[in-house]
Amino acid sequence: MSETAVSIHSLSRSFSGKRAVNSLEFDIQRGSVFGFLGPNGAGKTTTIRLLLGLLAPDSGNATVLGHDIINESHLIREKTGALLEHNGLYERISVQANLDLYGRIYHLEDRERHDRIEGLLERFDLTEKAKERTGSLSRGMKQKLAVARALLHRPPLIFLDEPTAGLDPVASSQLRNTLRDLVATEGITVFLTTHNLMEAEQICDTVGVIRKGELIAFGPPSTLTSSKDNIYLVRGSGFSENILSNLNMLPMISDVTIEDSSHINIHLTADNTMAPIVRKIIESGAEIEEVRKETNSLEDSFLALLKDGSSDRSQL
Ligand code: ATP
Repeated sequence: MSETAVSIHSLSRSFSGKRAVNSLEFDIQRGSVFGFLGPNGAGKTTTIRLLLGLLAPDSGNATVLGHDIINESHLIREKTGALLEHNGLYERISVQANLDLYGRIYHLEDRERHDRIEGLLERFDLTEKAKERTGSLSRGMKQKLAVARALLHRPPLIFLDEPTAGLDPVASSQLRNTLRDLVATEGITVFLTTHNLMEAEQICDTVGVIRKGELIAFGPPSTLTSSKDNIYLVRGSGFSENILSNLNMLPMISDVTIEDSSHINIHLTADNTMAPIVRKIIESGAEIEEVRKETNSLEDSFLALLKDGSSDRSQL
């Protein structure tokens, strides 16, 4: 069996002559959580719809669980679970009845259906709500039920379009934990879209950033918060104009900026270290309390990417 759950090659799709997805090219490994990030209208949902065969590409191709999205999309829809814009739940029937209905649609045998529903209700903390009318559930509970519904037939891959949108932090966190748990225990692959950078950082093994239909970054989220190149924050006192201009003249420093009277930022030139600079600052009479390498916040990196990202894909 291929190690790749999703494999996308030069996939493009336009609407009225405007490219919604432009030459996408990437793979997602089985058993991983992939997070698709990008601003509104970037092409995330269109990509999922293409992968599910709900839309035809103009050019390019992709396989999902080894099946071609053009000729075998019925197999893809059968074998995957999806939570798209509409949660697909029937509000007037009970939580249990919703799951039972979908279990029957997927032809799960009675015993298997019963056990699976019980297991999912427990996993999503919905056992006590089983008999309640779905319409009476809170938004967070409905969302959990919708994810449970997508998982009913034990699909090896699920697509979740903004699964935590509109949920409060507690409900979002619970849903994320359950998803991570499922990946660990059932080995499923998750393809999710999100606007929540912290979410991407917390649960995704790989993230892809899309802008105007083009993939502008792809890789593990940890590297999004990588250290800023050679920028150090120095906290202390006595940073006089004289000391700063002397520092600025050192060849190993490309720039010194003042944050406030007790903080300066030192930008080193390549391959230099802070130790000799710290000595010089102290010899000049200033006091140092802390020296810290600056890191990008995830948000900084994301915004910088969206601003500067070109069609040359950056590796995160
Ligand atoms: P969001 O984060 O807001 O959900 P998205 O990244 O999922 O956005 P898409 O919904 O894929 O973005 O839309 C990408 C582009 O394609 C947008 O410009 C959108 O207006 C356009 N588009 C998507 N579906 C259609 C359609 N059925 N008909 C015409 N244009 C469409």
